[in-house]
Amino acid sequence: MRKIIKYFCIFAVLLIILHSCSKKDAKLAIVQLNAELEITEIENNIFLVTHSFPWPGNSLIVLMDKKNILWIDTPYTPEATISVLNWIEKKFGEQSSITEINTGFHIDNLGGNQELAIRNIPIYGSDLTCELLETRSKTTMSNMIGWLNGEKNKKYRDVYSNLSLYKPSITFNINEEQKVLVGSNEVIIYYPGPTHTYDNLVVYIPSQEILFGGCMILSANTEKVGFIEDGNLDEWSKSLTNLQERFDNIRIIVPGHGNPGDSTLIAHTKGIVDASK
Ligand SMILES: [Zn+2]
Repeated sequence: MRKIIKYFCIFAVLLIILHSCSKKDAKLAIVQLNAELEITEIENNIFLVTHSFPWPGNSLIVLMDKKNILWIDTPYTPEATISVLNWIEKKFGEQSSITEINTGFHIDNLGGNQELAIRNIPIYGSDLTCELLETRSKTTMSNMIGWLNGEKNKKYRDVYSNLSLYKPSITFNINEEQKVLVGSNEVIIYYPGPTHTYDNLVVYIPSQEILFGGCMILSANTEKVGFIEDGNLDEWSKSLTNLQERFDNIRIIVPGHGNPGDSTLIAHTKGIVDASK
């Protein structure tokens, strides 16, 4: 009889676990704003914005309290940024206030800044991001346009060629760690050193234990370092060690491209970077 009760208990526990797992999956509500732009609620009030233009790139929206929203990076274009802003207004109301942080000078970090600037949304970014926008951006953009060959990419080529890239409006010395208040919650902007680019930053949200790793972090499905002409492989590896030492409490890491994962994404990225040297 005892054995039967024991097995019944194990069975019941398994059922509860299964039920809570399926509930968790069901929570991943996806809103498709258009064929290239989707928003996934990865946890309550934490939204992954994925813009495929044409390469899927991530930005992250976090409702920090009732009306204060943190948005890390932007979609590739002001048009896509307008669509997300409309969604924010509908979901959180016109009174919501947005703080934007750019984690680098590439188009997948700040391509939407123009629209944020028009609306006077504060945009945090480093002095080095501003400098690279002036000195390096033209070369990077023409490299990217070069990859977009063929008729099917004409649309992207045209947009990339005509995009005006806006600088962040609130700048800081990249080597000085920043603490920014969004509502009553603090977020930390940290620069571990050169990585995928010389200016890529991470943003850590202590209240959620979430790190937006951006383009210096590769997702679990990524096996190549990708575009590294603006970065440095040797330094990248060292910078990831700095990052590991700086934050020891990371629950979720959001990479610049691909699915979020846990803190093991740092070691995963390091392995790929080291193998590419
Ligand atoms: Zn990127």
